[in-house]
Amino acid sequence: MSVTVLVEAAQLLTLADGPKDSPRAGPAQRELGLRRGHSVILRDDRVAWVGPERERPATPGAAEIDCRGRVVMPALIDSHTHLVWAGDRKDELELRLAGADYEQIFATGGGILASVRQTRATDDDTLLAESRARLERMRRSGTTSFEIKSGYGLDLATELRQLRVARRLAEETGARVRTTCLAAHALPAELREHADGRAEFIRRICSEILPSVAAAGLADACDVFCDRGAFSIDEAREVCLAARALGMQLRLHANEFGHTGGARLAAELRARSADHLLHLDDTEREALRAAGVVATLLPGTSLVLGKPYADGRALVRAGVPIAVATDCNPGSCALESLAMVLALACYGCKLSPAEALCAVTHNAACSLDLNHEVGRIEPGMSADLLVLATPDYRDLVYHAGSPLISQVFQRGHCIWAV
Ligand SMILES: [Zn+2]
Repeated sequence: MSVTVLVEAAQLLTLADGPKDSPRAGPAQRELGLRRGHSVILRDDRVAWVGPERERPATPGAAEIDCRGRVVMPALIDSHTHLVWAGDRKDELELRLAGADYEQIFATGGGILASVRQTRATDDDTLLAESRARLERMRRSGTTSFEIKSGYGLDLATELRQLRVARRLAEETGARVRTTCLAAHALPAELREHADGRAEFIRRICSEILPSVAAAGLADACDVFCDRGAFSIDEAREVCLAARALGMQLRLHANEFGHTGGARLAAELRARSADHLLHLDDTEREALRAAGVVATLLPGTSLVLGKPYADGRALVRAGVPIAVATDCNPGSCALESLAMVLALACYGCKLSPAEALCAVTHNAACSLDLNHEVGRIEPGMSADLLVLATPDYRDLVYHAGSPLISQVFQRGHCIWAV
């Protein structure tokens, strides 16, 4: 048995005071359960005890880590990534910086389709190695739980390969991984010339790809890129209903490029999460709130693409629970540090540091059904947590990008320390 004590943190963010079975919205999203001068005992892979240092029970032989002058908080949970892909699109980055538009690049066969060509042509070992390098950088940046989407295959064999790689990343690193089948990411090149190519692709997803993925137990959820230039509301609904019939949770890329109806569809289908949401009106926010959908904001993508930021304040006022994620992908945002994106959620989406912190811990966990494992520091929870080299968590925003994360614990093991 291994026992570690984190001694007398200047700030311990437990997230333990609000609702635990559901994501937090409105004023509750600012409730961090902040304790001063508290210690945490980790036993094997679990949090065993939390309380004031003076009340700490004796733990002979335990490793002690002095956390005076430091923050202890839950490890980060990245609830929207596409991190299994091959190759890169750095040429597109330069085109966009020179003025080209993401939707134009996509329409002319670049964008997602460029990553599909590269991913299909790459063998499993290389795909695993490239993806693992990204995952390791993300773990060193404080993230120990991940949602990973497929969507760079767009055919049965490659979608299965991507999802298998995502599962292997979990087995090899011990990171928690929830997988999502995003076969409905783009219409594949080989079907673009056919008159009924769109209908044929939707048929393949519903009757071949999703059933095979479900039979292999490779996806926890299904997602659709439901937006202008991608898939329509009717197409997205058909895919989602097929996925639901197979027992998958639903997540949706929605309202990134306009009021395309994706957010309303997410509410109608009671999806776990509606993601992006750059364009959202009061009735759409109310629909999300009433349906209990988590609004997942991806401000890194707004930064990289030069798009507007989602209005976080309006979502807080409307009582919609908010998660924040990287959207780590080869084109529109390859940022890997969720801590950096947390700061962007403050500067761009106007969340307060406390709201953004809940968005990358408890609320993200809820959207992935991981909220009884990670996202809070309480006895019985998995010992996934961070030690920050500062006494004030707001420095994650104030000094965004600085190397403040001094230790990363995953399942009770220190996997990174500086
Ligand atoms: Zn995405």
